[in-house]
Amino acid sequence: MSKNIKEVIIIGSGPAGLTAAIYNGRANLNPLVIAGFEYGGQLMNTTLVENYPGFVDGVDGPELMQNMMKQAQKYNAEFLYEDAVDVDFSGDIKTIKTNEGKVFKAKSVIIATGSSPRRLHVPGEDDFYGRGVSVCATCDASFYRDKVVAVVGGGDSAMEESTYLTKFAKKVYVIHRRDEFRASKAMQNRVFNNDKIEIVWNSQVIEIKGSQFVETLVLENTQSGEKSELKVDGLFLAIGHVPNTKFLKGKVDLDEQGYVVVTDNTKTSVDGVFVAGDVRDYRYQQAITAAGMGCMSALDAEKWLSDQRD
Ligand code: NAP
Repeated sequence: MSKNIKEVIIIGSGPAGLTAAIYNGRANLNPLVIAGFEYGGQLMNTTLVENYPGFVDGVDGPELMQNMMKQAQKYNAEFLYEDAVDVDFSGDIKTIKTNEGKVFKAKSVIIATGSSPRRLHVPGEDDFYGRGVSVCATCDASFYRDKVVAVVGGGDSAMEESTYLTKFAKKVYVIHRRDEFRASKAMQNRVFNNDKIEIVWNSQVIEIKGSQFVETLVLENTQSGEKSELKVDGLFLAIGHVPNTKFLKGKVDLDEQGYVVVTDNTKTSVDGVFVAGDVRDYRYQQAITAAGMGCMSALDAEKWLSDQRD
């Protein structure tokens, strides 16, 4: 078999991909990690991570990811900071093409490309991202002590984030585009029974305004089209996530929302292609669960490679 054919290629470099790289590295598989141009995943945009086990005083997201990378490199994982843009999983040898036009070959592949928080795509959103616009209440709520914030969304995340924000903020608006939430009843009730939360039904944020930080949201009533303004210090987006699987369409089974379908533990519809982390998990979406799945996928790939040799 040619030297240019890797035993395993890992696509993605969040906690799932890096944990897989550590395990496959330690198993002497010399994995190639196609880490992406924006490597490290969502924790690179986080400040203190307080719930990753083993760090009593918390750990900075970027530091945690850099350490995972160093740990993987220590076991001979190789990193490429390019994006995978196309794959061919049709033969025994899988090929992956990057945005720089390079093509890599492997006997097995682990998909760990994660997901990205869905965005509103309205004026001001990009300008104030990180300056009042956030996609993670757990990460940023403490910056809004005694302030007024808004959460957009009507699912479990919006319920959870708005409830969490009331620990810090003095007032939390939940802005939802319809007149009922899709969240579970128990989580809705927690919101309805919280005095600090006010619900703004049938409304969309159509613009975010401010000078240095967010100051005003322009809202549009989805029924009447009427516009209004709401003064807030911060806006939290809780409108779901989009799995990073555009380049996998038609190459491996995806569900209707684009998440990779799992057939058995970490196996996908393609023999020798495994999956780990948020790209297959819309439910837990935690660094620790992604890391756990990264470990599982690496062990499954290792076992699969050894079965092929037998
Ligand atoms: P979700 O269930 O897909 O809800 C997204 C919400 O955002 C919906 O209410 C949707 O409105 C709204 N939305 C989507 N695009 C929008 C846009 N462009 N503008 C305005 N609003 C928009 O997402 P999620 O709440 O993140 O939950 C994802 C999954 O994780 C779910 O299965 C959920 O049960 C699970 N989860 C569980 C927990 C828990 O159990 N503790 C916590 C969080 C999440 P519509 O309703 O009108 O479509």
